[in-house]
Amino acid sequence: MKEKNDIKIFIIPTIISILILISIILGILYVEYIRNLTSKNILKNLGELAKQEAENISDKMQEHKRILETIINQIDIKTEDEVFKKYNTNAGKDEFSRIAILYKDGKTSTSDGTVVDLSQDINYFFQTNEIQISKTRLSKVDKKEINIYSKKISWNNQEEVVILLVVETDKYENLFLQSIYNGKGIEYLITVNGEIIANSNKEENGINIFEKLKENNKNKINKNLKNIEKMEQEINKTLNGQMLYKEKDNNFYIAYQKLGINEWYLIIRTPGSVVAEELNKILKMTLIITNIIISIIFIISLYIIINNKKKKDKLFKLAYIDEITKIGNKNYFIEESQKLLESNFENIYLIVLDINKFKSFNKEYGHKRGNELLLNIGKILTKKFNKESIISRLANDIFAIIFESKEDINKISENIIENVSKIKIENEKYQIYVSLGIYKIKKGEKIIEKILDKALLALDKVKGNYNKQYMIYDELLEKEIEKEHEIELNMQQALDNQEFVIYYQPKISTRTKKIEGAEALVRWIRNNKVIPPNEFIPLFEKNKFIIKLDTYIFNKVCEDLKEWKRKYNNIPLISVNISKEHIVKEDFIKDYLDIAKKNKIDSKEIELEITETATMERDIVMVMKKIKKAGFIISIDDFGTGYSSLSMLQNMPIDKIKIDKTFIDQINIKSTKKNIIKYIIFIAKQLKIKTVAEGVESLEQVEYLEKIGCDTIQGYYYSKPLSKNDFEVYKEHIDGL
Ligand code: C2E
Ligand code: CA
Ligand code: CA
Repeated sequence: MKEKNDIKIFIIPTIISILILISIILGILYVEYIRNLTSKNILKNLGELAKQEAENISDKMQEHKRILETIINQIDIKTEDEVFKKYNTNAGKDEFSRIAILYKDGKTSTSDGTVVDLSQDINYFFQTNEIQISKTRLSKVDKKEINIYSKKISWNNQEEVVILLVVETDKYENLFLQSIYNGKGIEYLITVNGEIIANSNKEENGINIFEKLKENNKNKINKNLKNIEKMEQEINKTLNGQMLYKEKDNNFYIAYQKLGINEWYLIIRTPGSVVAEELNKILKMTLIITNIIISIIFIISLYIIINNKKKKDKLFKLAYIDEITKIGNKNYFIEESQKLLESNFENIYLIVLDINKFKSFNKEYGHKRGNELLLNIGKILTKKFNKESIISRLANDIFAIIFESKEDINKISENIIENVSKIKIENEKYQIYVSLGIYKIKKGEKIIEKILDKALLALDKVKGNYNKQYMIYDELLEKEIEKEHEIELNMQQALDNQEFVIYYQPKISTRTKKIEGAEALVRWIRNNKVIPPNEFIPLFEKNKFIIKLDTYIFNKVCEDLKEWKRKYNNIPLISVNISKEHIVKEDFIKDYLDIAKKNKIDSKEIELEITETATMERDIVMVMKKIKKAGFIISIDDFGTGYSSLSMLQNMPIDKIKIDKTFIDQINIKSTKKNIIKYIIFIAKQLKIKTVAEGVESLEQVEYLEKIGCDTIQGYYYSKPLSKNDFEVYKEHIDGL
């Protein structure tokens, strides 16, 4: 079963793919954006860090300056010993290596007890009254790198000396500078000219950082050099700032911050990998989050798709699938066949299948079994016809199949009937009969309802026919159906216009040779033409009009009897046919009794002919008992054509059996059936049931029947069915008045 909305299922995955693609592109743009942002952030943070560090460092230096100041202020008697003593008792002493006193001639005494010559530096140390902090230099005492805090004072109010407080650069570096960013970031303390005073990386001091950076960038990108030059210029202008530059394929971030002391600068330099790490962390998080979001979107979409598909399937099932048989229903049939009819086809048939007596099957075995039977028939049909065929259950127990086949349609039909007849339900075998109506669809026919009607008409024809199980709709059938249609149109009017008249066929007693009774047989006189009952009775049985007609005939018979009762001394027992459709409607007994009573006729003066096939109906024994109780004589018509046996009749309140004409016909020929009549009559006698022979046409038959003890003879040998008038003439001739 194809679903035309299949394409829709592909739309959602396509949309999802496009969305994922868009998210990937957005992701890449996002990464770029984050990279820039992080870069900017890092620079900004680095700037902040440099500012704070610079503050810390200058604070520390100010503190050192204050220590120097304090020592100097505490000096009362200006002697070397006193200075050293004061120094030794000073709290901040640990941070310094020694204190020294420099005289104008360069002689310098230190708290270590050594004397060195600093005459070369006299100009520097004596140039100002302010406290100075020196660049990194080599100690004359121990050759270590040192920095010197110095202040010029008046020694004993006359001689000028400089007090020097010495800090080891190493210590200095430990005090001020620290490794940042997990040791990857380096801090440099430089002069405004770029000379390195101290650094946190144990690098060589005294060299020029600008030159060093430029050196590393030899033959490298212009942009980097420009950046370095720009930094140099900005530092020259005492500006703060940050920059990014590349060195051997690695990115570096640099922040430069004025220290506020000696026009020194603090430089922080950190590799890009630090940023990359930061960035990676952010990206990782982003990636995880995006993945989660995409997964959630994917799962939700998948859920929606599956749900939608389920819903669609469910709706499709509700709309097009028959719940019991799991094959298509009528909607499915109409829609699919309409599609097929639009296509170019050849050898296409429609078969409608109807289960005979499905109602009885349900009653006898229950609805569950009934449903299983339907399911099994669906399975048989699905197996028998190929996938292109349209197989559905149209209603109740009616199936329809449209299929293409070059095979003989009679063979196909017989095959279906045979397959179904062998049905097994839960390993139990059931004898199932089905009827088929078949129509070969002509090219150009497009309206499925009309096509279905034709197959259903053929099916209808089978149903009223005991020896046919399938029928193909053809022109003949069409004419017949047209005729039936016309009959149906006219039947009520015919009844009102009294077009139905009774003919009476005498029944002669083999014993007295007198008229014992007569059968009332209906004729339809239309436009002065007599229509025989076999042309309309089967139709009336099907459309139930027979109930009206039988009642009408019964009424007329009663009226005739009433008249004859006045006219004659002895009146024959008149038998009236009563249809099977009528008998199952048991309240007819009351109606018939009322009619008889109205005409002052006793029920025992009338015989009801019930066909043998009617005795197969459910609950018939009960109905017959009621008929008997009402007083009517009961005879079994067409005996021998059905499947009942005399032993079955034993349980029924039967007065007579009418042996069917087919048996009587055998009397002329030497046949075993001849013997059967003998046995029937013999057994009937045992059961005290009278026998009537029907359709007796020859003297030979009469003589044989008389010989074997048949009670009554009806047939052309004595008389054809006669109009009321002719019957009266016949009776007066045989019986006299
Ligand atoms: P049936 O009840 O078996 O009636 C006997 C049929 O055999 C009658 O045909 C009768 O004309 C015919 N027949 C009698 N003797 C001979 C004979 O020697 N040779 C031949 N070839 N035929 C003979 P008819 O009148 O055409 O009736 C046909 C059937 O129509 C009847 O068969 C009966 O089943 C049905 N029928 C007739 N009238 C009524 C009616 O008022 N109500 C019902 N329900 N059915 C009726
Ligand atoms: Ca009859
Ligand atoms: Ca008969």
